[in-house]
Amino acid sequence: MSEFLSKELASLTPYVPGEQPHTNPHARKMIKLNTNESPFMPSVIAAAAGQAAIYRVNMYCDPNADALKEAIAEKAGVSKECVTVGNGSDECLAFIFRGLCGDGAIINDVTYGFYKVLASLFGVKTEVVPVKDDFSIDIKDYAGKKGTIFIANPNTPTGMTIPVSDIKKLLGADSGRLVVVDEAYVDFGGDSAVSLLNKYKNLIVVRTFSKSYALAGARLGYTLSSPEIAADIERIRNSFNPYNVNGITQKMGIFALKDEEFFRTTRDDIVRSRAFLAGELKKMGFKLTDSKANFLFVSPPDGDGENLYERLKKKRILVRYFDEPRLKGYCRITVGSREQCEKLIAAIKVIYFGSQKCVKRK
Ligand code: PMP
Repeated sequence: MSEFLSKELASLTPYVPGEQPHTNPHARKMIKLNTNESPFMPSVIAAAAGQAAIYRVNMYCDPNADALKEAIAEKAGVSKECVTVGNGSDECLAFIFRGLCGDGAIINDVTYGFYKVLASLFGVKTEVVPVKDDFSIDIKDYAGKKGTIFIANPNTPTGMTIPVSDIKKLLGADSGRLVVVDEAYVDFGGDSAVSLLNKYKNLIVVRTFSKSYALAGARLGYTLSSPEIAADIERIRNSFNPYNVNGITQKMGIFALKDEEFFRTTRDDIVRSRAFLAGELKKMGFKLTDSKANFLFVSPPDGDGENLYERLKKKRILVRYFDEPRLKGYCRITVGSREQCEKLIAAIKVIYFGSQKCVKRK
């Protein structure tokens, strides 16, 4: 740390993303199931659109991303004025923490780790609401609390969902309190809160192209809200980086939305692999949460998450272990391609049973 860093940032603990071995040529052959990316290459239609846009990078991109916002709005069934776009949904979240948390923020203890980092970066007072012992969220725990509520639905790392009827209750309980529903993983099985946007002016839905559209590296996320909130977010965005979503990514997003077949087939494939993987792990005595996301949250038979992480890593399979008191017994495993899932199962059988033949547990 240099002597020049602002005093208030000296104690900031930055977010640590999952390892990215593809940046390391020696580790490229690893099976990467640690950051919930899609195992599939993106839509060829989206990729071709991005490639064509490369030749226009001598010019700045459209700072308002009008065509992209129109495409997102049409898909979501809202008007274009309700949409803002970000360099990944992480940036959308940053804008919200920066400008729409005047009364502080309310987050869960078991949820996306970046929320608390953003809160601390922007000096937002944060109240942490513990999830229940089974990792479920009870909306009664928010009663009477002031501040912008952040709920990932499905949540991470558990993949568990809360019903939209509960989101509705939260919104109705206090119309002066903002509720941010982070739907990064909603396409894999959760229920979306988008239909509530018509009625509730205190709702922001945050979405991403990183997971179900296989565009994590292109960095594209968006928010859906009332036009007034969207204008507030635009105010912040335009005061930070008016060209936040580059032209290549804007085009990729527009064409990814057009390629419905890619979206449907890859999403369905992941949902099928999730069921396969969950079934195999249960047979081996693993405990699992009911994940509706593109990952599973699993506890091995000996309840030692770190050991599972380390031993899989030795076998060149990367999963995510969170060294936090409530999460020590678990690993989060991204649902990969069917082939990756089969390799994972084979490796786990060797780790816990010494052979790929596993005796089915009663
Ligand atoms: N929200 C949640 C719940 C996530 O897990 C992630 C991905 N790590 C994000 C938002 C951010 O995704 P991105 O910035 O790639 O859109």
